[in-house]
Amino acid sequence: PGALLRAGLGQALQRAGRTPIRTEPLDNLYEMTGQLGRGKFAVVKKCVEKATGKEFAAKFLRKHRRGRDSRAEIVHEMAVLEAARNNPRVVNLHAAFETDHNIILLLEYAAGGEIFDHCVSDEPLPERQITRLIRQMLEGVHLLHQCSVVHLDLKPQNILLTSLSPLGDIKLVDFGLARRLGTMGELREILGTPEYVAPEILNYEPITTATDLWSVGVITYMLVVGESPFLGENKQETFLNVSQVNVDYCRDAFSLVSELAVDFIRKLLVKAPEDRPTAADCLTHPWLWQLGPESDPPTPRTPRERSAGKWALPPEDFEDKENF
Ligand code: ADP
Ligand code: MG
Repeated sequence: PGALLRAGLGQALQRAGRTPIRTEPLDNLYEMTGQLGRGKFAVVKKCVEKATGKEFAAKFLRKHRRGRDSRAEIVHEMAVLEAARNNPRVVNLHAAFETDHNIILLLEYAAGGEIFDHCVSDEPLPERQITRLIRQMLEGVHLLHQCSVVHLDLKPQNILLTSLSPLGDIKLVDFGLARRLGTMGELREILGTPEYVAPEILNYEPITTATDLWSVGVITYMLVVGESPFLGENKQETFLNVSQVNVDYCRDAFSLVSELAVDFIRKLLVKAPEDRPTAADCLTHPWLWQLGPESDPPTPRTPRERSAGKWALPPEDFEDKENF
């Protein structure tokens, strides 16, 4: 698995960088205003571009982690963002800077915060909002999968909203674990956050696009129920719950939504990856379209896709970037 990972990063280094990594002082061009979030190796701050007054999110990524040079991993994260440039559900990469210790990614600012806040709340979102957000998440994931990118860290903290009130649109962030599924072999790696990882990751089995669909199931459960389906008292318990697919479908919250919601989640939280629907399959599920507004399924675009009975979602200008 280490070799495969390195192969992936090697590809990342080969591609000519679209977004230059600038070394001039960031403070000349942007004014930092406050912290938006932080992870293991990153701090994200809100900032304003002095020339335009536009708001951005500046993700500060440490170049050295656990005594190791991680520059290649950061360049890889940039390359994934660039490959997804035409995906409207992925946050846009505006610019990049480098200091002695950090690479700073200037990202489109998602003002509505994380959908996490709606996943652990006593007041669940209205069902039609949940289905609208799930549709948008699936559109984003479908477009990623079309260019053989798996996100591998889909969780409510990495799914942001463009605005809070009114509730805006989905933006996927955090491509730090994203991988391109190569043709050269299988990808097996231990990644992600216990609560959200799929059984195949725990079992060190091959990672495919279906791994992301498991996470979509977990997130959907959380939006409906307001609690994480597999979270145990400790990591061991959580891992056991995941590997046994120990899910409670009898929660009170399920009585507040259509029965189709349970059917949708049940189809995704399936142990065998090959038995899960694809993102495109999910987008045809009746639960997502039963409530208006904008309840028309997307129109199939190409004759081939029409005959295959699958929905084609990518905008016309979406390119499948060969290498990054
Ligand atoms: P990490 O790899 O450390 O998890 P993320 O990219 O997930 O870093 O960013 C950490 C947090 O910062 C996110 O969960 C989110 O709350 C916030 N954040 C990240 N990007 C943006 C953005 N473009 N707009 C607004 N908030 C953001
Ligand atoms: Mg994150």
